[in-house]
Amino acid sequence: VSHNDPALRIETLLAGPALGSAQVDAFLVTGLPNIRYLSGFTGSNAILLLTRASSTLFTDPRYQIQARQQVPFPVRIGKRDVLPLALESIRKRGLKRVGVERNRLTFETWEVLRNSLSKEYSIVPIDAAVEKLRMVKSEDEIAAIRGSVETNSRAFRRALRGFRHGMRERELAAELDYQARRAGAEGPAFETIVAFGARTALPHARPTDDKIRDKGLLLIDMGSFQDGYASDMTRTLHLGNAPKRVKSIYRAVLEAQLSAIDAVRPGVEAGDVDHAARKVLKAAGLGPSFVHSTGHGLGLEIHESPRIGLGAETVLSPGMVITIEPGAYIPDFGGVRIEDTVVVTEKGCHILTPTPKDLIEW
Ligand code: ZN
Ligand code: ZN
Repeated sequence: VSHNDPALRIETLLAGPALGSAQVDAFLVTGLPNIRYLSGFTGSNAILLLTRASSTLFTDPRYQIQARQQVPFPVRIGKRDVLPLALESIRKRGLKRVGVERNRLTFETWEVLRNSLSKEYSIVPIDAAVEKLRMVKSEDEIAAIRGSVETNSRAFRRALRGFRHGMRERELAAELDYQARRAGAEGPAFETIVAFGARTALPHARPTDDKIRDKGLLLIDMGSFQDGYASDMTRTLHLGNAPKRVKSIYRAVLEAQLSAIDAVRPGVEAGDVDHAARKVLKAAGLGPSFVHSTGHGLGLEIHESPRIGLGAETVLSPGMVITIEPGAYIPDFGGVRIEDTVVVTEKGCHILTPTPKDLIEW
């Protein structure tokens, strides 16, 4: 969606194919990132009730002031459990067909809805309607992601400046998080990954008390939130001179990453981008070592649609922001991953991540 105005986003959502074909009288939004997208509300507890005639946000007294500042339509304050107030509104207004977010509703909430509404009401599950709108970012959203990406890269550079041999993985992770905050981030977008030596073979390694020695692979995967938007970057370095095997794995992963970036353009299916990376790694004999997808969308959440994976059918279009992050992981030896964030443009894509990605030997 090309605009940021909540009213226009809601209008686009209600007029869209998902809600149109479901013929609902109301749509109950329970996913917090979706609520933020449609209302501007950034608190941790709310329900949004949308109809063609009006929008209402329900939240609790902790957010009374904040919600009225952020939300451009009526806000109603209930108890900590806001569902009863939303239900009351549904019944009072006779909204007989209520759409709910299939992937964002707890079983408990579904039970309460079922048990509180009489037989004339129906609950209609809707698949990822807001998530689909969120895939295409507005200019302002792209600017926010760019800001987040640049802050993240700045923090990476500053933290490495303070790196000393013998530092523990956990200490370097803390330094990365600290520098990100200092550089303007609201906080980490996920738990920072710092892995040294053979532990780089774990794609989602958690930092440990292990010391980072003077020889070996070092993988850092970090992301920040800034102005609500995520960034995500992975770099793999080698401390000391890299052995031949490391160099050849690194070269293959970098070639796979560049090849996937080259494949990003409007009209292409997400699965084709994944295929471009996979093909290079297969040819290098690293097919089975590439154990995850090539990338993912990012925005208000660190992982969003579209998934850039094997067979993914989402057609890329201008304004989508995705990561490209192939990797190869060899048990008991180590792994390499290189991750950038790119925005799909009219003709291809633009790489937002400014950090260089040649193999750094320290
Ligand atoms: Zn990452
Ligand atoms: Zn990622």
